[in-house]
Amino acid sequence: MTSVPTVDYRNFDRRNFLAILAAVGASAALTAPAIARFGFANDDPSFIYAWDEIKPGFHALVDAKTGGNSLVVVSGTQVLLIDTKFAHLGGGLLQDAQAFAGNPAHLDLRLINTHHHGDHAGGNALIVPHADSYAHKKGVERIKDQLEKFQQSAKAGPAQIKRNKGTDEQLKLAIAAADAAESWTRADIAPKNRVPDEGASLTLGSTEINMYHFGRGHTDNDLVVHFANDNIIHTGDLVFAGLHPFFDPSARVTAIGWTKSLKAILDLCDDDTIVVPGHGPVGNKQAVQDQLEYMNNLIEHVQTDIDTGVSKSESTKKTWDFMEGLGFESIRGRAISAVYDELN
Ligand SMILES: [Zn+2]
Repeated sequence: MTSVPTVDYRNFDRRNFLAILAAVGASAALTAPAIARFGFANDDPSFIYAWDEIKPGFHALVDAKTGGNSLVVVSGTQVLLIDTKFAHLGGGLLQDAQAFAGNPAHLDLRLINTHHHGDHAGGNALIVPHADSYAHKKGVERIKDQLEKFQQSAKAGPAQIKRNKGTDEQLKLAIAAADAAESWTRADIAPKNRVPDEGASLTLGSTEINMYHFGRGHTDNDLVVHFANDNIIHTGDLVFAGLHPFFDPSARVTAIGWTKSLKAILDLCDDDTIVVPGHGPVGNKQAVQDQLEYMNNLIEHVQTDIDTGVSKSESTKKTWDFMEGLGFESIRGRAISAVYDELN
């Protein structure tokens, strides 16, 4: 697929992580000390900005510098995009979807947002007006409420592309998004179709698509997208592969709910299932099992701290064996803090 731009973004630096935190509206007060303490030496997963065809018709973009993992699915003349990364990247994603479809005069595009976070829905303004779009009903409302955040993120986009040594074309698209951002409306960014708690189904050409909501987990509006016939699952941020998971109390995160969602995802998996996580490389059901193990360990260790009178501030400074060697080290403390509050 030579018409799709390819950029080598090998270093995952502190600034990009801050962009993710800013995009999801994370509290700087909570994260700044952690960032200063740990730095980002261990947070370089060496992802590359390049689409990877994980199965015929299924293209994944898992570069850590561009936000959450996107998936493009092509079936006949129809194209589905899952998640739109940061606000300044929507134009590029639209171009890429167009290219994957063979540059038709009219692009028959669908969009699913796995949840409202700005590193997964930030680029919506450039996609929603051109697509039949879906998010969980609570996600639609939360996305609308982030208009200002997405606009600010778009305005910061050109500088980010320059730092990441993006292509001239990417810079051009980012500048266009920054210039247009002020005129974006809530309707431009909000998916038109609200997926109920019971989930919903779509077809894309001959491809069956099921959207599941397993209750509160990473947020209160997580969708898991299952391609049953193709044995592929996009988990959204219910799975951070090889990384500490991001806890956002403002999104009503719950570790206990998260474990239930992960078990429900495992029920959809067999040994051959391809798992596209929200962040980190494409893998298989082991990534889901690893995430479940992390959550169970986290809940157990924090509960022990609470039971033995360890204060929240002391607990938050801790690390345990199961946390060793994971990327996104700077958000480890957030995870402990949120679970401490949840269990206490
Ligand atoms: Zn998220």
